[in-house]
Amino acid sequence: MTMKVIESLSQMRSWSRMMHHEGHTIGLVPTMGYLHEGHLSLIQTARKHSDRTVVSIFVNPTQFAPGEDLEAYPRDFQRDRRICEEQGADVVFYPSNEIMYPEDHKTYVVTEDLAGRLCGASRPIHFKGVTTIVTKLFNIVEPDVAVFGQKDAQQALIIKRMVRDLNFDVEILISPTVREEDGLAMSSRNKYMTHGQRRQAPVLYQSLQMAKDEFVKGDLSPELIKNNIIDNIKTASEAKIDYVQIVNTEDFTETDLEKGDILIALAVFFGKARLIDNVIIKR
Ligand code: AMP
Repeated sequence: MTMKVIESLSQMRSWSRMMHHEGHTIGLVPTMGYLHEGHLSLIQTARKHSDRTVVSIFVNPTQFAPGEDLEAYPRDFQRDRRICEEQGADVVFYPSNEIMYPEDHKTYVVTEDLAGRLCGASRPIHFKGVTTIVTKLFNIVEPDVAVFGQKDAQQALIIKRMVRDLNFDVEILISPTVREEDGLAMSSRNKYMTHGQRRQAPVLYQSLQMAKDEFVKGDLSPELIKNNIIDNIKTASEAKIDYVQIVNTEDFTETDLEKGDILIALAVFFGKARLIDNVIIKR
């Protein structure tokens, strides 16, 4: 089957309905394009868990606040399309802003409390945009499975909660973070960095790994571990910390760290690039 590029809602819906009618399952990989190996591993996960794969490419304006990098966000549709084809995707869903958000669009989906913590503290509208666009994609594509990356841990957990709370009939899979050789998490935003900033950026993952080891050993309090991460990141002259947090994975607060899974998450600016990364400690 040759890969299709679908831009219209009605065509996307009829393709999905036809696939379901023929007894196929559909896996969806939502992306903002400018694909890298992190996205490719999500496509492969989707292919493993469903027999038809849709990759959506849409730089979602509602998850960017005024003054953020919406206009500067890197785009290269022809390259993305070629990559999706090589990866064995069946459809690239590539809608326009006008189709996704007509002028009188007024409805949003919000996951209360969770959307205001961690990244939500400095990007207050971000997760409202994410949950809204993912809801729209789920309604249009009607996937059986949708794959998200561990790199955006808060996003993945919020989407899981939204699916549970709103009774969506879709299975959410979380795929591990794909990293450069030096440990830096792959991101479309890494290209904003200068060479000097790029050279310093692996300090983030180094600090997280150090923290994970300290946490597992159990000698230090979460507060001390957090301070060690901050001190370590500050050795990189170009780093400007947005936040470092050690929280539970249920509600992203610092309570109940003795039981359940722990998320150590951070956001740090290197020049224009706001980089996020995290590790999870499973209990
Ligand atoms: P984006 O295009 O940045 O919105 O990301 C689309 C999807 O790819 C999201 O589910 C991300 O969590 C995931 N993703 C981005 N970078 C990585 C990475 N380095 N490893 C694994 N998944 C990733």
